[in-house]
Amino acid sequence: MQISRRQFFKISSAGLGTSSLAALGMAPALAQAEVRQYKLLRAKETRNNCTYCSVGCGVLMYSLGDGAKNAKAKIFHIEGDPDHPVSRGSLCPKGSGLIDYINSPQRLKYPEVREAGSKEWKRISWDEAIDRIARLMKDDRDANFIEKNEKGQLVNRWATTGFLGSSAASNETGILDVKFARGLGMVHLENQARLCHGPSVAGLAPSFGRGAMTNNWVDIKNADVILVMGGNPAEAHPVGFKWAVEAKTKNKAYMMVVDPRFNRTAAVADFYSPIRAGADSAFLLGVANYLLDNDKIQHEYVKAYTNAPLIVREDYSFDDGLFSGYDADKRAYDRSSWAYELGADGYALRDDSLQHPRSVFQLLKKHVARYTPEMVSSICGTPKEDFLHICEKLAATCVPDRTTSILYALGWTHHVGGSQIIRASAIVQLLLGNIGMPGGGINALRGHSNVQGFTDLGVLTTMLPGYLTLPHENQQSLKAYLDERTPKTLVANQVNFWRNTPKFMVSFLKGMYGDKATAGNDFGYHWLPKWDRSYDVMAFVEQMHKGKANGYVIQGFNVIAAAASSGKVREGLAKLKFLVVIDPLQTETASFWENHGEFNDVNPAEIQTTVFRLPSSCFAEEDGSIANSGRWLQWHWAGQVPPFEARHDGKILGTLLMKIRELYEKEGGTCPEPLMSLDWNYHDPKDPHPEEVAKQANGYALADLFDDKGNQIAKKGDLLSSFAHLRDDGTTTSLCWIYTGQWTQAGNMMARRDNTDTGFGNTPGWAFAWPANRRLLYNRASLDPAGKPWDPKRAFLHWDGAKWTGADVPDYPVGSPPNSGVSPFIMLQDGVGHLFSMGALVDGPFPEHYEPEESPIPANPLHSGSGKSPVVRIFKDDLPSFGSREDFPCVATSYSITEMFRHWTKHSRLNAIVQPEQFVEISEKLAASKGIVAGDMVKVASKRGYIRGKAVVTKRVMTLKVAGQEVEQVGIPVHWGFEGTTRKGFLANVLSPRVGDANTHTPEYKAFLVSVEKA
Ligand code: SF4
Repeated sequence: MQISRRQFFKISSAGLGTSSLAALGMAPALAQAEVRQYKLLRAKETRNNCTYCSVGCGVLMYSLGDGAKNAKAKIFHIEGDPDHPVSRGSLCPKGSGLIDYINSPQRLKYPEVREAGSKEWKRISWDEAIDRIARLMKDDRDANFIEKNEKGQLVNRWATTGFLGSSAASNETGILDVKFARGLGMVHLENQARLCHGPSVAGLAPSFGRGAMTNNWVDIKNADVILVMGGNPAEAHPVGFKWAVEAKTKNKAYMMVVDPRFNRTAAVADFYSPIRAGADSAFLLGVANYLLDNDKIQHEYVKAYTNAPLIVREDYSFDDGLFSGYDADKRAYDRSSWAYELGADGYALRDDSLQHPRSVFQLLKKHVARYTPEMVSSICGTPKEDFLHICEKLAATCVPDRTTSILYALGWTHHVGGSQIIRASAIVQLLLGNIGMPGGGINALRGHSNVQGFTDLGVLTTMLPGYLTLPHENQQSLKAYLDERTPKTLVANQVNFWRNTPKFMVSFLKGMYGDKATAGNDFGYHWLPKWDRSYDVMAFVEQMHKGKANGYVIQGFNVIAAAASSGKVREGLAKLKFLVVIDPLQTETASFWENHGEFNDVNPAEIQTTVFRLPSSCFAEEDGSIANSGRWLQWHWAGQVPPFEARHDGKILGTLLMKIRELYEKEGGTCPEPLMSLDWNYHDPKDPHPEEVAKQANGYALADLFDDKGNQIAKKGDLLSSFAHLRDDGTTTSLCWIYTGQWTQAGNMMARRDNTDTGFGNTPGWAFAWPANRRLLYNRASLDPAGKPWDPKRAFLHWDGAKWTGADVPDYPVGSPPNSGVSPFIMLQDGVGHLFSMGALVDGPFPEHYEPEESPIPANPLHSGSGKSPVVRIFKDDLPSFGSREDFPCVATSYSITEMFRHWTKHSRLNAIVQPEQFVEISEKLAASKGIVAGDMVKVASKRGYIRGKAVVTKRVMTLKVAGQEVEQVGIPVHWGFEGTTRKGFLANVLSPRVGDANTHTPEYKAFLVSVEKA
C-alpha cells in the first residue's frame, strides 16, 4: 500500500494508534515517521522560506503554544517543505541549522547603547533609543541637508548619514527602507547587492533586457550541457544544485566545471579544468572565438534574434586595450561612438548577410580573434586541451535541439571586471542560440535569500524600485528625467517596453507621495533626492574615513565583514558621530569598537562613536515576501513573535520616522517638506503591516480605468492585476511596477501553492514571479520567427491562432502573430539580444580581459600598456594599499563552504560544530616550499593586513602555469569573525583590496595578492 505523507498525517490525526497502523501493514517501515508524528502532534505548522541563500527552499516550522493560555508560540522544529517545487523537502546543512539560528545565544534581546569612549554596552528602553537616534538624525540632517547645489539646482539630498538595508529582510521591509531613506533625502542607500550580484544586473540587462537569472532552478534539469563557472553551487546553493544533478541523471547532461579550485561541484561533474582567478573574461572570449572560428553558431538565431546584422558607427574603434572615446585625465570614456549607425528614419542600418565590416558580427569576430586557444591557456593557466574540450562540448549545443545552461555566482561577480565577464557569457549563449530556451540561459545564482528583492526594489544609491533610476541633479524636472530615461526604438516594429517609463515613474511617485503628488507639482518629483555622484558602499567608506560622514543606520548588514578592506571600514566607523545597527544578532559591525585581541585590536577609549544596537525579528518571526533567484516572490508567515524586546523592522523604522516628523513639527528645521509629504498613511504609521505594504508595492487604481476599446479594466480602489494598466496621469499607483500582479483583487498571488507542472518543470501556480508571472525570460526566443519551436522537444509556447500560449506566460505581446517582425527581447530598444552592448556599460561595448589590479604576472599578454582596466573604480588614497607581485606572489581567492553562510551561520550551533575554526587551502607544492604540513597554523598577508588559519594542504588547489611562470592560488573561506558560536577568527576581508568593478563598484574579492608563511 502506498500513501502520501499528507494522507499519512490525515490518517494519523484521525486517531489511529500504533496497532492500527501496524494492522495496515505499515510497520515497521513507517515507525520512524510515526515517532515524528507524535513529536509534531498538536504543533502548529507555519510555512516559511530558508533565510540563507537564494534557492529559497520551503520550510515548515513547528511551534507549540497556541495562545489559549497566554502561551506564546515557540518554534521547536524546522524541516523542509515537501510540496515546494524547488526544494521538495530538502534542506542543506545551512537550512538544517535554522532552528539554531532562531535560538542563537547571540540573538539581541534589548536595545543597547555604547556611549562614546565607553568599553561596554548599556541596556536602554526603546523610547530612549528612538528619542536619541531621532535627535541625532535630525540634527545631522538640519546641519547638512543640501537643498540647492552650487549651480543653484534643486537637489534635496542628505549625504552625511547613510542607510544600509538588509538582503534577507522581506520586500515589505525593503519598500519601507526606500520610503524612509529617500523621504529623508538620503543618497547613500545601499544593500548587499552592491557587494555581490551588482554585476549581474550590469551584465545581463544590457545583453537581454533584464538583469536577472534568465531561467529558474528547476529548468536546469532540461539542459544537455551544463557549464558551471564562477560558482560552486554544490556548496553555495546545494538544494538548487539538485536540478543540475537531475539533468545529469535524467537528461544525460554533460556537466563541466571551470574553477580555481577542484570544488565539490567539480567532484560530481563530468569534467573539470582549473583557471587562474580573475581570468574568466579571457576564457569566455576564447570560447566565442572558437565558436566563430569553427562556424559553431546557430545561424538563424544569431541573424534573427541578436544585433549581429546591425551596423556600428564609423568612429567606433578598439586598439591595444582601449575603446574609442577614452579620456585619460578623467579616466572615463565618452561612449557616443559605441552606437549604431542610424538611417534617415532613425532606425539602425543593417546587413543581413553579416558581411559589412562594421556589422556587429564582423566587429565581434575581429575583437575576439586575439583570444586563440594558446592565448587563453597562457592567460588562464588552463591546459589548452582542456579548453578545447570545453569549447567542443559547448559548440555541440549550437544546434537547435541541444542547449547549454550556464550557472555562475560570486566567482564572476566578485571581480573588477565582473559585469563584463557576464557579458562575455551572454555573447557565448547568444551565438549558441541558448537564450529563451528551456534548459538554456544564464543562471545567475543569487546569494542572499532576498538580494534579488532588494535589487528589484532599488535599495541602491542611484536606483529606484523596478530598475528606474534615481534622478541625477541635472534632471531638474520630471519631463527632463523622462526625456532622458525613456529609450527610443532603434529597429522598426519593436516593443521597447521601457518606452512606458513615464507610467512606471509617475505611479511610483504616487506611491511615494500619495495625494500630495499631483500633475501640478510634477507628482512630487522635486522632493526626491538628486544625486551628483555614486554614494555606493566603497564611496561611503571613503567618506567616513575622511571624516565627512556623521551617521550610519545599518539594518541586517555586517558591513565591516562584507565590504572590502575591513581595516579601513573600522577606521571609518570610528570617525562617525553615531552608528545604529538593527539586527537580530550580535555583529562585528556593532562591536567594531570592542577589543578582541589580534582579531580586532582597538582601544575603545579612543573611539568616540555612539553606537546603538537594536534587536530585530528574524525571518521566522515576520510575515512577508522574499524573491528567490528565479524571481519568485514567495510569501511567508511568522511562526513565533520576536523574542524578548526584539521588534519587526517595519516597527523600528515607523517609530523612528514618526519621531523625526514629530521633531520637525515641533521645532521646524531644514527643508521638512519632502519628509512631511511622504505618504506613510498606514493603519498604524508606527507599525505598518506587511500586507498593506505589499499591496502598495503592487499598486491601485485611483480612478476607474478603461482600455483602448473602452472596456473597464479596474474600478477606483481596485488592486491592479498588471503593470500594463499603469498610467502616467496620476490615476494609478505602484511602488514597484515589476511587482504589479503580486497582490490583486483575487488575493495574495505570492501565497499560492499550486505546484502543478505545466511542462518542463514549470510551476506557474506556485507563488508569483515578476514580471507578470513569467518563469522563463525571453521565452518567445524558443521559437523561430515563424513560431516553429527550434526544438520540437522543447515546444514551450505555441500560437493558437489568436494568441501565444503554452507552459509559461509568454514574454511577448500575446497577440503579435508569427512573422510579425516583433523580436523577442522586448525590453531592449532593438528587440534583439546584444552581442554589442552599445553604451550601456562604462568600460566597453565588448568585454575585454584586463589583469586584476594586483596581478601575479608582469604584463597582460594582450596589451602593450599596463593591461589593467583604464576605468576601474579606485580611490587615490587607496593606491598605497596595493601590493606587488614581488612581495605578495600568490593569488588569493575567497569563497563560501557548504556548511556556512557568509557570517551568519557562525551564530548557529549546528553549523559552528561542523566548521568551528578558520582555515585556508593551499597546494601541496606551495606547502612543501614553505615547510607547511596539513594542520599547521599559517599566516596569510596582503598589503592591507593578515589572517591566521589552519592549513588545509590539498590537491584541490593546483599550481598553474600562467604567461610562462608558475602561479600559486590560495583559497580563503570567509565565515569567521570575532562574534559568534564558532571559535574566534579573523574577518577575511581584511585582506581584500579597495578596487571596484567600473560599472557597479562591486569590489574585487576573488583575485588579489598575498604571501603565505607558516605562523
Ligand atoms: S541555504 Fe539555500 S540551499 Fe540551503 S536550505 Fe537554505 S535556501 Fe536551501
